[in-house]
Amino acid sequence: MDLIVDLHIHSHFSRATSKSMTPENMYRWAKIKGINVLATADFTHPDWFSELREKLEPAEPGLFKLKEKYSKQQNEKLPKSVKNNVMRFILSVEISNIYSKNEKVRKLHNNIITPSFESASEINARLAEIGNLKADGRPILGMDSKELLKISLETDPDNLFIPSHIWTPWFSMFGSKSGFDSIEEAFEELASEIKVIETGLSSDPYMNWRIKEIQKRAIISSSDAHSPEKLGREANIMDCKLDYFDIINGIKSNDKRLSGTIEFYPEEGKYHYDGHRKCDICFRPSETKKHEGICPKCSKPLVKGVQYRVDELADKPEDYIHKTNKIVEYIIPLAEIIAEIEGVKSIKSKTVTRKYKEVFSSLGDEFTILREIPILEIEKQGYKELAIAIKKLRNKEIYVEPGYDGVYGTIKVFENQKEKSSELSGQSNFL
Ligand SMILES: [Zn+2]
Ligand SMILES: [Zn+2]
Repeated sequence: MDLIVDLHIHSHFSRATSKSMTPENMYRWAKIKGINVLATADFTHPDWFSELREKLEPAEPGLFKLKEKYSKQQNEKLPKSVKNNVMRFILSVEISNIYSKNEKVRKLHNNIITPSFESASEINARLAEIGNLKADGRPILGMDSKELLKISLETDPDNLFIPSHIWTPWFSMFGSKSGFDSIEEAFEELASEIKVIETGLSSDPYMNWRIKEIQKRAIISSSDAHSPEKLGREANIMDCKLDYFDIINGIKSNDKRLSGTIEFYPEEGKYHYDGHRKCDICFRPSETKKHEGICPKCSKPLVKGVQYRVDELADKPEDYIHKTNKIVEYIIPLAEIIAEIEGVKSIKSKTVTRKYKEVFSSLGDEFTILREIPILEIEKQGYKELAIAIKKLRNKEIYVEPGYDGVYGTIKVFENQKEKSSELSGQSNFL
């Protein structure tokens, strides 16, 4: 069966995370989004761990469900269109490893997924000897990532270890500010135990496939959501049984059980390209190199983005397109599409919230709407404008302005208001 799997989020015990990241809200929002298997996050936090033990119960092998006592109330709040979606939890945590290696300070985030509360407990016991697990749902530990990988391998061979969002400048394996230049350098003789990497929001599989070391490994995408509304902004499509071991082994062996990923447009990130915000200069890596990294306006060094860092480590050129049988699907969150149609700036506005609810109540969960429902069906249900917008999204007829030097990129379905009104009014032969 096709499953949508999101393996990296945070609970309300993590810094800068919404108070509403509780098991109940995660459960309800996963159904609205169409996520079938969702990470619990933060299992190293003692209070969150007890909350999970109290509220979850075993379901299929290695997976957990919200006890009926808690799920019943949530189901009552959900419309029929999404109420019966399958939703399971999988135990996970992200550790922030800060340490020095080869005379440089390294800061890496790593995720561990585990099949049972017993294995999670064992990991917690080992890590509690190293640092304070109570301070943050994503604990900061002064230990080498390789040592963390060892603990993961020793506590349970069925654990999955994933270097997180590997291009983030400050906190990742390949981060330009505090990472490494290769998996080998970071994990040495255990490098072959790294079976998978997480792209992060600012890179996509195609960028990653320019690197040989990654070509041999699995690529997953996760939302890293800090609030319920952002669950599943990236996710994995898995064709496998609803079973921890089938999911994890599908990822480890990178076989066809891992069908592919659902991606955020990486250009939307704040540091995708290089440039100077003040000088209004935005360059692709090749242009930056042509200018020897110097801004043609102010003659100071340009701020380099994720794409540049990929280019530095890449074995393949910028225009290389890896041949793959993996699905790579790009989405724009439904709330953003609705905001564009309604002509409002904030996706948190009342209009968008009301319309979003109306749409999923009549059409189904967000992933089904964005990816599956026939365009004609969306139109038939009375959502003509949405049908046009989603058709454009699926055909990749969208407008991309990459982010640079701290300026967020923008991804739009309509180029501007004028184009929007002409497309929405003259659509007789569009569908
Ligand atoms: Zn992280
Ligand atoms: Zn400049």
